[in-house]
Amino acid sequence: MPHIVTDNCQGCRFTDCVTHCPVECFHGDDERLYIDPEVCIDCSACIPACPVQAIHDVIDMPDEYLPWVEINAEKAQILPVVKTKQDPLPTSEARREELGF
Ligand code: SF4
Ligand code: SF4
Repeated sequence: MPHIVTDNCQGCRFTDCVTHCPVECFHGDDERLYIDPEVCIDCSACIPACPVQAIHDVIDMPDEYLPWVEINAEKAQILPVVKTKQDPLPTSEARREELGF
């Protein structure tokens, strides 16, 4: 089962996650990232790297995140790969506080 990025990523883009991924399966738009399930090898290396716990293993996550499985698969097909750490969005620290991290 793949890993997915949930809505905690929205407004963050700290992108610490991409520096831990061995297969370059993160894709992104201006607001957040998604994981390509066809490329993810389920190593879980990205999970502890995310400061807002946005990444989950599909096999071990709350049901509320299930809609994100299809969204990640669809978005990964149309958005560019994000290979390197980028500057976080100006909203990132406020977003982290809002989420309680
Ligand atoms: S570290 Fe987490 S919140 Fe930041 S871009 Fe990666 S998945 Fe999104
Ligand atoms: S689980 Fe591994 S392969 Fe999949 S996105 Fe995270 S770091 Fe990349």
